[in-house]
Amino acid sequence: MEVGIGIAVTVLALAIAARRIFWLGRLVRSGRSAPDRLKGVFGHVRAEATDVIAQRKLFKRTVPGVAHAITFWGFIILLFTIIEAYGNLFSNNFAIPVIGHTAVLGFLEDFFAVIILIAILVFSVIRLREAPAKKERASRFYGSHTKAAWFVLLMIALVLITLLGYRGAQVNAGGFSYGWWAFASHLVARALVGLGHSANRTIEVVLLELNIAAIMGFLIFVVYSKHLHIFAAPLNVAFSRRPRALGPLATTPNIDLEEVSEDTVFGAGTIEQLSWKQLLDLVTCTECGRCQAVCPAWNTGKPLSPKLLIMSLRDNLFASSSRLLTGGGGSDASGESSASALVPDVISPDILWSCTTCGACVEECPVDIEHIDAIVDMRRYEVLMESRFPTEAGTMLRNIENRGDPWGLGASGRGEWMKGLDFEIPVVKDKLGEEIEYLYWVGCAGALDERARKATQATVRLLYSAGVRFAILAERESCTGDPARRLGNEYLFQTQTRKNIEVLDEAEIKKIIVSCPHCFNTIAREYPALGGNYEVIHHSQLLADLVANGRITMDHNFDVSVTYHDPCYLARHNRVINKPRSLLENIPGIKIIEMDRCKERGFCCGAGGSRMWMEENIGKRINLERTDEALATGADVIATACPYCLIMIDDGIKERQQADEVRVLDISQIAQETLSPS
Ligand code: SF4
Ligand code: SF4
Repeated sequence: MEVGIGIAVTVLALAIAARRIFWLGRLVRSGRSAPDRLKGVFGHVRAEATDVIAQRKLFKRTVPGVAHAITFWGFIILLFTIIEAYGNLFSNNFAIPVIGHTAVLGFLEDFFAVIILIAILVFSVIRLREAPAKKERASRFYGSHTKAAWFVLLMIALVLITLLGYRGAQVNAGGFSYGWWAFASHLVARALVGLGHSANRTIEVVLLELNIAAIMGFLIFVVYSKHLHIFAAPLNVAFSRRPRALGPLATTPNIDLEEVSEDTVFGAGTIEQLSWKQLLDLVTCTECGRCQAVCPAWNTGKPLSPKLLIMSLRDNLFASSSRLLTGGGGSDASGESSASALVPDVISPDILWSCTTCGACVEECPVDIEHIDAIVDMRRYEVLMESRFPTEAGTMLRNIENRGDPWGLGASGRGEWMKGLDFEIPVVKDKLGEEIEYLYWVGCAGALDERARKATQATVRLLYSAGVRFAILAERESCTGDPARRLGNEYLFQTQTRKNIEVLDEAEIKKIIVSCPHCFNTIAREYPALGGNYEVIHHSQLLADLVANGRITMDHNFDVSVTYHDPCYLARHNRVINKPRSLLENIPGIKIIEMDRCKERGFCCGAGGSRMWMEENIGKRINLERTDEALATGADVIATACPYCLIMIDDGIKERQQADEVRVLDISQIAQETLSPS
């Protein structure tokens, strides 16, 4: 009888769960192919070890991180108790083969049962404390399905209470083979001993059946809820981009206009045009809200939340399931497309265009969801298939196409920043030549924006004085294509890229210095996919090395306080974090004050993702949010290492009417003021 009920419950639950998992698998596989994600998947052992087993990202929030890790590790140990529970259905002397009833296992099982119950209490307190606030945008649980989380906590508690209960009764009924190391079971036994042998035997049987029923109920609930991440997260981590989904975009579709047909689709306009990996992202989201809490768009009152974006796409995936699984092909009986347009039906244009591609969401997500790639794929569809994008962005695209820079100032102005220098910089006419080591890629902002030009001048003065042999392209330099790419115009990006690669390769350029982190990211990490392979160094790295090697020596103190703003495309996307700091730290007298949001967890200036060329009419301006944070440090100087950040924060300082008190400088300008090249 006991055996029959336990087995019947298990078979039924496994059948329901298997049906759901099979259905989810088919749904995910209905996405576009992503062959690159299958390559080297077994090499992702380290990612599984750090992100899944060691729960690395969860520890960024200490209390919930520790509670989650305890629960996760505990359930690995508690798998043994599940095996034992099934064994106990048949014999209450059951022991796992080879392992048996060792004291260590008995202790670990009880220890984790107890501390998971404590972790559940901690989760409950966190959720109760968040409950009044969760209707506020500031809460990371805003918009999450929190009732499901309560149910899961209840189910876990039920599994553990029935486990300790049946083991305690088993001690009294005879047949429990662990000694006092299984301390919690023996403590429960003490509480039950007064009920007598026969009552304990009944309690043992009832709680054992309930334990199995709770485990199976939990399994079914998991596969039907956001808690599916228990199974999906290890897969999502295994198929994620390594070392992280930052830096280059995931895909570089080959855009050859001669091969474009009526069936060609660029980007993602409907849910099935996302790849299977992107669909796996959707079903893996835990709704934890860590991405939402760090998103600069969300934090400044805009409608974009990376969490809500993923949840909306997931809802659309489930709503489209019958069409996707029956191969409906996106058409209804009348031949009209029955698929919802991702934009604007699922994701509003204001959400789509609010993203700065800063990467904070990707950095934070504990299950390695790749938000930026999905956002840019939807932008690609909007721009290339529908010609829908903010008007101002259209001007920027035309400027790049016709004049070679986003402002439309033209190539003739690209050398003007050199006026006033007391030395000549060689301009590459034909080949770079043996005697020149580097090409200095000035970048559109560095060459054309008045404020950024000062940083360019400071950089070249330091390079020249340190004896670095470098040349520039001047009028032959053109936009890398980064703003076009982040806006979704992959065609223009590839046109610019091919043009630039041709110029660079003709001049036989191997090593490039860049000041702009966006140029750095594009040339170093995106040009290789289109055949451009160069050794690229950011000016912060080279200057720091020149100081470390003694090629630039200190002359006098810089007795002011400085707070350093990390550019997203330098620190987060490319992990250049220590070199700019090392340059600053080597300056005598300087006092460095870190902002709370710094390094790879820094807060965006608001310019990335082409936002530099779009109006910002919703909520607080992102550059003001960052400027306010920098001003709150009380530093005399806000330093950065990116022309976009320089412009955005300088605008913020002016808007806050602090330009007379606080200076905004590139680290090269600080170095120039304080270091004397030897
Ligand atoms: S990339 Fe930045 S702006 Fe875009 S959704 Fe993520 S956190 Fe928000
Ligand atoms: S996308 Fe990642 S960080 Fe954001 S809510 Fe989902 S699991 Fe959490």
